[in-house]
Amino acid sequence: MIKYLSEINKNELAGKKVLVRVDFNVPVKGKEIEENYRVKAHKETIDYLIDKGAKVLLISHITTIDSFNPIVESLSLCLDQVITMVPLAELGSVDTLFQVSPVLLLDNIRQDKREEKNDMEFALDLSKGFDFYINDAFSASHRSHASISAIAKILPSYGGFLMKKEIENLSKALSEPAEGKIVILGGAKISTKLPVIKNFLDKAEKILVGGAIANNFFRAQGFETGISVVDDTISADINNPKVILPEDFITSGDLSGKDFPSYHKEISDIPKSEAIVDIGTKTIDNYNQIISQSSMIIWNGPMGIGEIKQFAAGTNAIAAAVARISNSIIGGGDTIAAVDKIGLLDKYSFVSTSGGAMLEFLAGEKLSGLEALGYYE
Ligand code: ADP
Ligand code: MG
Repeated sequence: MIKYLSEINKNELAGKKVLVRVDFNVPVKGKEIEENYRVKAHKETIDYLIDKGAKVLLISHITTIDSFNPIVESLSLCLDQVITMVPLAELGSVDTLFQVSPVLLLDNIRQDKREEKNDMEFALDLSKGFDFYINDAFSASHRSHASISAIAKILPSYGGFLMKKEIENLSKALSEPAEGKIVILGGAKISTKLPVIKNFLDKAEKILVGGAIANNFFRAQGFETGISVVDDTISADINNPKVILPEDFITSGDLSGKDFPSYHKEISDIPKSEAIVDIGTKTIDNYNQIISQSSMIIWNGPMGIGEIKQFAAGTNAIAAAVARISNSIIGGGDTIAAVDKIGLLDKYSFVSTSGGAMLEFLAGEKLSGLEALGYYE
C-alpha cells in the first residue's frame, strides 16, 4: 500500500527535514521557464510542508540545461517561495542553509552519474540527516533512479499531493467502464503509445488515432506515406475495429510549413514527395462526433505537427471538442503546450504533468517509483 503525505501526523512535521522529489524538468529560455505548469503543480505539497514547520530539500533533474542556476529566481516566483540553491558538492552544508531558508533546491541531480544508476551509496548520501522522503514526481517515476527508487528503501516514504492526484485520476482512466470511454492518441514515439492502445482494447469503447503514429498503421497496411514521419522501429500490427484511423489529411512537401503549399488528401493518394502533417476535415468531423457522444476522454499526443501554425487545425479542433466533455484527462508535454497556446488548459477535468510515466501507467506497466512507495503491494 502506498502512503501519502496527508497520513503523516501534522505535528510530527515541525522542525523535521524532508526530501521532496519534484519534477522541474521544464523548457527554458535564458532565465525564463517557458512552460511552468509542471512546477506550479508541486506548490501544494511544498506549501503544506512549510506551513507545518518542516524544512524542505527539493530534488529534481533537468535535461534542458545543466544547472538550475539560471532559473532559480523564476522557480521562486512561480512557487511564491524563496528557493535557495545547493550545489551537489555542498550537500553536507544543508543544515547551515536551512537556518536561513526553509526551502532548498539541490542542483540538477543528474550531474551525479550515480543518480541514473539507482546507486544505493548515492541514495544514502542524499538521505543523511533527513527524516522523511516525499515523492511528488509522478512524471519521473517510471525511472529507476536513486532519487526515485533507491532512496525510498532508506527513509520513511510517502507520495505527495500531486503524486496522489496523478495516481487517482489515471487509475480512473483504467477502471471506469469501457462504454462511453474514448482514448485519443497522437504525436510521435509509437513505441510508447502502442502498449497503451493494446491495453485499452478491452478498456475503452474506441481508440482514435492521429499524428505521426497513424502513419505507422498505414505503413503496416502497405500504403504509400511519402516523406511522412514514420517510426520504423516497431510495426503497428493491430487490426481491431475499435481502433479508428484518420480518413483524410493535410499534406505538404515541406514539414517546416514555410515554403510549400499544403493539400487535402486521402490515404490512397499520398505522393512520394509529400508528408502527412495533420488530420483532415472529414476526420475532424468524425472524431468530433465520436467525442461529443462520449462520457470520458483520455487524450495524449497532437493530431499533427501542432507546433507549426499551418498544421495545428486538427489538434486545435480536437482540443476544443475534448474541452466540452465533462470528464476528460489529458497529458503529454506537447499536448499541454498545444492546448495552453489556445487558452484551453483549464478546461479539462485533469491535466497530467507527465508524458512517458502516464503512458506506461496507462499501458498497465509497473512504474519503479510507485513500486518503491509500495503501490503494487
Ligand atoms: P506529447 O508530448 O503530448 O506526449 P509526443 O511527444 O508523442 O506528444 O508527440 C508530439 C510530436 O509529434 C510533436 O513534435 C509533433 O510535431 C509530432 N507530430 C505529430 N503529428 C505528426 C506528423 N503527422 N508528422 C510529424 N510529426 C508529427
Ligand atoms: Mg512530447
